[in-house]
Amino acid sequence: MLILDGKIASRAVIDTLKTEVEQIKLTGKRTPHLAAILIGNNGASETYVASKVKHCDEIGFGSTLIRLADNISEAELIATITELNNNDAIDGILVQLPLPKHISEQNIIMAINPAKDVDGFHPVSVGKLVQGLPTFIPATPYGIMLMLEHFNITTKGKHAVVIGRSNIVGRPMSILLSSNQPYGNCTVTVCHSHTPNLNEICLQGDIIVAALGRAEFVKANMVKEGAVVIDVGITRVEDPTAKKGYRIKGDVAYNEVAPRTSAITPVPGGVGLMTIAGLMKNTLQAYKAIGK
Ligand code: NAP
Repeated sequence: MLILDGKIASRAVIDTLKTEVEQIKLTGKRTPHLAAILIGNNGASETYVASKVKHCDEIGFGSTLIRLADNISEAELIATITELNNNDAIDGILVQLPLPKHISEQNIIMAINPAKDVDGFHPVSVGKLVQGLPTFIPATPYGIMLMLEHFNITTKGKHAVVIGRSNIVGRPMSILLSSNQPYGNCTVTVCHSHTPNLNEICLQGDIIVAALGRAEFVKANMVKEGAVVIDVGITRVEDPTAKKGYRIKGDVAYNEVAPRTSAITPVPGGVGLMTIAGLMKNTLQAYKAIGK
């Protein structure tokens, strides 16, 4: 059984980006720049954004973190995004989700200039993805594809079972795995909360991508011997014995599932790190398209 170590695969991506940015700097051009907007003080969001900023620093990207109070109006948030859209020094814009309830996620995503949509959530990006055109691929599915490629996990002709159909993970993941490209060409089954016989469907999967957000949902009796299991889930489970009072759990019961698999991602240390790698690649791509 191969552990698909996100530290190793993401390091390879980050190091390549670092080298590219060094080359850009040598030519005297401005550096790629990512702007992140963080609203309120959700602990998990704080952690994610801090990690994104840290990786920008490491690669040599510029970064701007804009913190806004959680009572900001939708119009004010859109005005901030518009400023970033019009700022030629900014290549990528991300608005950390989730948003406060009074703000429409869809309106915010639509406000971002598609040329700077490094999260790949804008309908223009999604439309291009569906048509197989070059675009910004949402960072988590992109990171998973980079991981499959890094560890040379072949996908052609395999049956992939994706649990979850969200716009940020499950849906784009299913599109990528079914697309006609080297790490695609799977036959894909997409499962969701209304799927009957989920256990039986999972048992048919040569590749299982678990992205439902239910801690340790996928058990050993749902996984075929030799399957590849990609665990996207991140759930904080209270644990008074843990230093922080909680532990991070994936969607897969790792200890019982891992021995049945041919390859599996750990949580933490798996897909989460690849998500950052995907985002960083998108930022450089945005720079190359519009940066001078
Ligand atoms: P989401 O928007 O809540 O979507 C969850 C999906 O799972 C939905 O499509 C839902 O079905 C389906 N689902 C829920 N319960 C189910 C069940 N019992 N059986 C089958 N399907 C079920 O979540 P998300 O944003 O995609 O995120 C999923 C998980 O990945 C979360 O734990 C999140 O924290 C994590 N995540 C991790 C990363 C990373 O970098 N590692 C990035 C993003 C998200 P319906 O459509 O029918 O409701």
